[in-house]
Amino acid sequence: MAHYLDYNCLMNGVNHLDELDSRSFFLCPVCLRKLRFRLAFDVGKRFEDLRRFCLARGLQPDAAWSARKFAEKP
Ligand SMILES: [Zn+2]
Repeated sequence: MAHYLDYNCLMNGVNHLDELDSRSFFLCPVCLRKLRFRLAFDVGKRFEDLRRFCLARGLQPDAAWSARKFAEKP
């Protein structure tokens, strides 16, 4: 799947460990739309699952981000 550099996205390539560590582990809207089209998953459920995953691992900022996205779901 092609990736774009307009967003900080899980699909962005990395050249070294610092880039890997600073990269988001979330998909940008473009990649999310592509995967949703191909895999036909429920975006709201995905964000809720991500929120729970992040909370269980002590990643509160990421859990809050997922909760906001869940509230904005299309
Ligand atoms: Zn992307």
